[in-house]
Amino acid sequence: MADLIGEEKIRALARNLLAEDRVDVVIGFERGTLPLRASPVFIRDAGDADRLIWDCFCENNLARYLISLNSQRVALVAKGCDTRSVVALLQERQIHRDRVTIIGVPCPRMVNRRRVMEEAGGEIRYARLQGADLYLEGREFRKTLKKDDFLYPSCTACTHRNPVIYDFLVGEPVEEESVGEDPWIAFEKLPDHERWARFSREIAPCIRCYGCRQACPMCYCTECFVDSTSPRWIDKGLDLSDIQVWQIVRTLHLAGRCVGCGACERACPVGVNLFYMHGKLNQELNSLFAFETGIDAGAPPPLATFSPDDPEQFIR
Ligand code: SF4
Ligand code: SF4
Ligand code: SF4
Repeated sequence: MADLIGEEKIRALARNLLAEDRVDVVIGFERGTLPLRASPVFIRDAGDADRLIWDCFCENNLARYLISLNSQRVALVAKGCDTRSVVALLQERQIHRDRVTIIGVPCPRMVNRRRVMEEAGGEIRYARLQGADLYLEGREFRKTLKKDDFLYPSCTACTHRNPVIYDFLVGEPVEEESVGEDPWIAFEKLPDHERWARFSREIAPCIRCYGCRQACPMCYCTECFVDSTSPRWIDKGLDLSDIQVWQIVRTLHLAGRCVGCGACERACPVGVNLFYMHGKLNQELNSLFAFETGIDAGAPPPLATFSPDDPEQFIR
């Protein structure tokens, strides 16, 4: 189902790191229990390294787990966006570089399994990758789809598939051109009132499960503003205005910190489109400050720094 050479290298590295007691745990992916699924896995025994896999369904951003394992020596199987998160978390002093070993893997772009399931038109019982194609079998159908027609929006727009930081690199670097338009571009073309209408329409199904927050490597506050009772910023119900506040404030909290991985959108059980909002803010940060989160460890995040010479009054 995957690039076996890459998989074998990941397994060998994990096996050695654990056997030589250089790390306590290797975080990677294992085959999911359903077709089209890979699950995060925490390998602590060198004998379990063969469980590790690598393919275009390894969609979670594994940097999400680093803060909770801060006291341990962790090896992380990391694609481009995961490594950007590592850089951002290091800049925010949330993790220690000497406790993280990065097994960098160039990313094949992740496949949107929900769209594949819709296209299949029935329950998929078996799936395998055949080069650039995806072969599917169900009780009453057999189909072959072109994998690249079913990528996540974050992955068609991605220009940083190669790890930006690593201790080991598995596989050859890949080209970094985007293969599709970033979803914020279509959103920006709308007149203001239509933008608000579209935003309100799209977030209306949100059930405030906070899966997006839990999947995001940069949403790590001990107490999120939505959970605070003193002060209480927002009610607990599903009133549209409360959902709007939740989505807008969360998006703004990610300004200059979002790495564009799309993990939040993928985690949403009701399919709320979130990525275009983060993409738009990322584009603003890029055009105003020539800044991209997690690319250059030496570049100070614009919203976490100031200049005493700033011409604006608010800074003095
Ligand atoms: S955002 Fe880029 S690096 Fe991350 S999963 Fe998608 S294509 Fe891969
Ligand atoms: S807000 Fe979404 S796209 Fe941005 S870093 Fe978090 S999970 Fe990734
Ligand atoms: S994961 Fe989806 S439903 Fe849950 S809070 Fe986020 S946007 Fe709302």
